[in-house]
Amino acid sequence: AKQKGRNQYQRFSEVFDEKLHRRLTLRNELRIAMDQHDLQLYYQPVINQSGHICGCEALLRWLHADLGWVSPEDFITIAEQTGQIVELGRWVLWRACNDAQCLVQSRLMPGRVAVNLSPLQFYRSDFLADLGSVLEEVGLDAHWLELELTEGTLMRDTRSSIDTLNSLAEMGITTAIDDFGKGCSSLDYLQRLPVTRIKLDKSFVHAIDHGDCNAAVCKSVIVLGRELELEVLAEGVETRAQYECLLGLGCEKFQGYLFARPMPFSALCKLLQDGPGK
Ligand code: C2E
Ligand code: CA
Ligand code: CA
Ligand code: CA
Repeated sequence: AKQKGRNQYQRFSEVFDEKLHRRLTLRNELRIAMDQHDLQLYYQPVINQSGHICGCEALLRWLHADLGWVSPEDFITIAEQTGQIVELGRWVLWRACNDAQCLVQSRLMPGRVAVNLSPLQFYRSDFLADLGSVLEEVGLDAHWLELELTEGTLMRDTRSSIDTLNSLAEMGITTAIDDFGKGCSSLDYLQRLPVTRIKLDKSFVHAIDHGDCNAAVCKSVIVLGRELELEVLAEGVETRAQYECLLGLGCEKFQGYLFARPMPFSALCKLLQDGPGK
């Protein structure tokens, strides 16, 4: 038994070392990736009730020469721990605004481009000024931009969140609560948040039964959205059954593999130009 214990410990520490090693590697490599421009923004279309593309979400991608695709969940966590997220987040905003401006100029822009924000970006005292200067530099009208924040981010400091959300609204920028339902914000609190949209977390969308439309959480969130006059977008829609159920419940917008996977900017341009299925 003792031997077994030791082996388990050894295995544990190997796994741990491997993880630690990977983290340290990723931290340094992220620095290099930023310098070498090895990061890309992909875009996933957002679909409206008529099935048309009405916007998109920017999602970071990192293709590492040795490691292959590194998941954004992994490297964003690391970038948040090291503080690299501030620089990375600024680059994402800048890149997304440039791509958006390109779509506007080529008359392909279907609607707002949504950008994910880390709490470290959102709560920086120079965040709004920074954002304003990116828009100015790029020449993008602020009403093409949407920002996504999780419940967790918004709850860290409610008062300050509300102030920033109001300033964003004044600028013409809409805001969405990402991964909605996964956190546990009180309804009273939600009511006071000046946001435009809630994004129903994909775990609830995936729970929808095939054929039988019996999704309690989805239904509650859609009803809640209607009561609070917040638009509801369902993320992670993978099947026709999920889509039809959500449509029947009155969900307004959709995102997911059923419609389109995140794609490089060039592919998005092509899709917007040629329409689907070409
Ligand atoms: P998120 O903001 O909730 O993004 C949605 C995730 O769901 C994306 O994963 C997307 O590729 C994936 N997805 C889309 N449709 C489907 C579907 O039908 N089924 C399933 N199973 N998944 C679907 P991705 O791109 O790996 O990003 C993961 C997370 O990393 C994002 O979750 C977001 O929290 C974070 N992230 C990505 N890009 C950025 C960024 O530029 N800045 C920040 N701060 N976070 C980012
Ligand atoms: Ca998001
Ligand atoms: Ca989400
Ligand atoms: Ca997420």
